[in-house]
Parts: sequence; structure tokens; C-alpha cells
Amino acid sequence: MQPLLIAENVSHHFRAPSGDVLAVRDISLRVREGEFVALVGPSGSGKTTLLRMFGGLLQPEQGRILYKGQPLMEPPADIGMAFQKPTLLPWRSVVDNVRLPLEITGRDDYADVAAMLEAVGLTGFEESLPAELSGGMQQRVSLARALINQPRLLLMDEPFGALDMMLRSEMNLLLLNLWERTRPTVLFVTHDIQEAVFLADRVVTMSPRPGRVIGNFAVEIPRPRAESERYGQSVQEYVERVWHTLEQAR
Ligand code: ADP
Ligand code: MG
Repeated sequence: MQPLLIAENVSHHFRAPSGDVLAVRDISLRVREGEFVALVGPSGSGKTTLLRMFGGLLQPEQGRILYKGQPLMEPPADIGMAFQKPTLLPWRSVVDNVRLPLEITGRDDYADVAAMLEAVGLTGFEESLPAELSGGMQQRVSLARALINQPRLLLMDEPFGALDMMLRSEMNLLLLNLWERTRPTVLFVTHDIQEAVFLADRVVTMSPRPGRVIGNFAVEIPRPRAESERYGQSVQEYVERVWHTLEQAR
């Protein structure tokens, strides 16, 4: 079967006042339908740049991105995105933030929203404003909003990077739980190797700038994965291997 998402020899550079920056260099990557891929690399290695290209938000300067076999010219309707900052609309309540993607695609269904809020543990906070929520709760709203359309592709850029360790662990389990329901294809950027291994079917590592793909690790840990496995022996073995390639490329 044709991969859902393909990057073919993608390079991109930015022109900045301080000089030109080659952000990513000759990146090729194929992501299968339903696959959960984690992208790990040092800060500045072009992870966000690559994710923006996969979302149709940025056109690659060289090479091309194919989604369902077609070049990606704009953000497709069937993708969901989540970022490190929850990027909620401050004047909208929890329920109205989550429902936003449904309004845009014209199939607003309150039952879906209520079920999603329950799934992320926000029942009872429907009418709260983002400013009234903790960081962890805001990130739950952001996750609910990214998933409400049942996207075929989910792009996540360090979504839990600003949360403390306990909360992050909790959100990891929640994400896996939600992912198991519909199994969208996921591209998850993180610099936490343990998080990458625990979540993903495959961990892709990137070199320091200009970002290139330097490693590809299939994580053969059975699912569903339990919380206790996060710090277990098998995760740790992969973490060491991934760490080693990153360390060598420094
Ligand atoms: P990462 O997400 O891995 O930290 P980014 O993709 O954000 O890396 O950035 C890769 C490189 O490209 C960095 O050196 C960054 O400063 C530069 N860069 C990213 N976006 C822009 C932009 N809009 N203009 C100029 N330089 C940029
Ligand atoms: Mg980034």
C-alpha cells in the first residue's frame, strides 16, 4: 500500500537578517497509514519546519511532500494539529474551543464534543475560559480540538513539552488511549527520547542543523502499552540506542 505521507528529498532554507539558514537538508521519509512516528532531534534541527511542510503550511524549497499520493499545496481538511502552546482562543469557552474545527467544516455536532470532553477528562469545565484552566487542562482542550474531526493525520509539535513529568506521563497515556480508538497516522515531535519510544511505532532521529534523517528505529513493544512500561527495561534499551545516534551526530 502507498504510504499516506511521503517526503522526497526535501530541503528548505530561510532568509534571515543575520544570514541564510539551511533548516533541513535532503529529507526523505515515508509514513504508513495508521503509523505513529516520533521525530526526535536537537533544538534547531528543523523539526517544526518539517512538520509545517507535512501540514501544508509551508512549501518545501526543494523536493516535495505527498499526502495520499498528491503534492500538498494547502492544509488538508482531514488533519489535526497540536502545538507546545495550547493556542486556544481566550474569549471562547472550553466547549467552543473544541467545537471550532467542526464549525469550520460545517458539521457541528454537540454530542461529539461532549463525548470528546469526557474522553479527555474535562466534563464539568465546558463553560470555563482558557485563562481559568491549568496548563495541563489547556493542553487537554488542545488535544480534544485536534482530535474532534477524527483526523486521518495528526501532527503534534512538542505538545507536552511545557508540562511537568507527571502530567506529561498522564497526557502520554491519554493520547495513546485516544489514538487506539481510531488509529490516525501520527507525526509527533519531541526532544524527550523516552516519550518518543513509549508512544511510537517508529522513532526517526534528526541531526543538528541542517536537519537530516540519521536514524530510524522500529519500536517493537506490544500495544496497548501500560504506564509501568514507560520506565521499563524494553523502553530503556531503545532509549539508549536512539540516544547513541543523536550523540554521535552532535
Ligand atoms: P526545531 O523545531 O527542530 O527546533 P525549527 O524547524 O524551528 O527547528 O528551526 C530550524 C532552523 O530554522 C533554526 O535555525 C531556526 O532558527 C530557523 N528558522 C525556523 N523558522 C524560521 C523563519 N521563519 N525564519 C528564519 N529562520 C527560521
Ligand atoms: Mg520546534
